[in-house]
Amino acid sequence: MKKINLKELRTANHRVIRDINELIVLNIVREQEPVARVKIAEIAGFEPGTVTRILQQFLRKKLVYEAGLGASTPAGGRRPRYVHLNPAACCAIGVDIGAVEAVLALSDLRGELQSVKRIRNTKSPEQTLASVAEEISSLVHSSKAYRELGGIGVSLIGLIDVEQGTILEGENLGWPEPVEVGKILRSKIKDIPLFFENGARLAAMGEIWFGGPHLSGIRDLVFVDINEGVGAGIILNGQLYRGFRNGAGEFGHVCVDPSGPTCSCGSNGCLEVFASDLATVRRYVQRARISDDSAIDVKLIVELANKGDAIAIEALKETARYLGLGLAPIIYSLAPEVMVIGGKLVSAWSLIEKEVWASCAERVSQPFLHNTKILPSTLRARASLMGAIALVLAKNFAAPELF
Ligand SMILES: [Zn+2]
Repeated sequence: MKKINLKELRTANHRVIRDINELIVLNIVREQEPVARVKIAEIAGFEPGTVTRILQQFLRKKLVYEAGLGASTPAGGRRPRYVHLNPAACCAIGVDIGAVEAVLALSDLRGELQSVKRIRNTKSPEQTLASVAEEISSLVHSSKAYRELGGIGVSLIGLIDVEQGTILEGENLGWPEPVEVGKILRSKIKDIPLFFENGARLAAMGEIWFGGPHLSGIRDLVFVDINEGVGAGIILNGQLYRGFRNGAGEFGHVCVDPSGPTCSCGSNGCLEVFASDLATVRRYVQRARISDDSAIDVKLIVELANKGDAIAIEALKETARYLGLGLAPIIYSLAPEVMVIGGKLVSAWSLIEKEVWASCAERVSQPFLHNTKILPSTLRARASLMGAIALVLAKNFAAPELF
């Protein structure tokens, strides 16, 4: 395994703490505009001085502007000026390299996607990344309509070195490791900053940033990402938590049944063995007695379930029951205010929500359960992509003197 530069990682971690505060403020402006400073401080739970400091940076960078006067306070204080977002100020390119395909998009400051491109992974990382680089170049060309392109955010799966953009362990990709994504993309794309992060962590950022007003100002959130594997992105006290050597969030390998089948990690009965998309497909294929499973994926199973297919519904419900068991240790160890469940199966949330709650309630005592909201991702399959965009926008908000 490649040796990770811990000093660089610590710097990056420190950076992310500030980024999240700025994301929260800019997000409140985006959702509430026009909005007074005092209201931003109230929603975010920040000291007014913190909000003022962050807004001064935004004003300098022309990401927001102030206009109009609101009502004065009951105590007769000064009438507040309203803060507005300037969406044309900056755009970002997001790239989500998943187990099956890469999805790319150009986004404005509001998260409005201008174009979405998909590239199916090949067996060769070099060939796939060459196609990704080509699409990035075409999006860079489209970005000229904006005052500034903030950079390119890239979401990667597995254990990664965020500075180098290297996948150290990406078991679901099927590429020989390590995969030097950063080195390959940087050799083809010059003069535009590229930022890398783990997909589940970006999904957590994406939810806070673009997930909707109900997540504004949330400081403790865990995003549980269900796809070919199961991973989690953790935000604690407003900080993205990476853990030592970027290893935090591998809840897919929490044991839910010691006598269960063997997992890719070598242990038995991990959550991932029962709740990943692969597990759901396997379950459906067995029960529906399908001999050729090449055309079956979770998207199809969700579609069938939403049309009332009993086998598809039962396959998803069983996944949901295991998922509920896997959420218990997260609630007990981290006590998040919100857990957001992401992935394709979320499109059948109304069918599985009860199972998730019921099996979680078997393991978690009422006071803990009541303190936690379990919500479906509003960004669905795009959470990591939107997080990659948020990562770029966040990097651009920090004033140089704070580096
Ligand atoms: Zn495992």
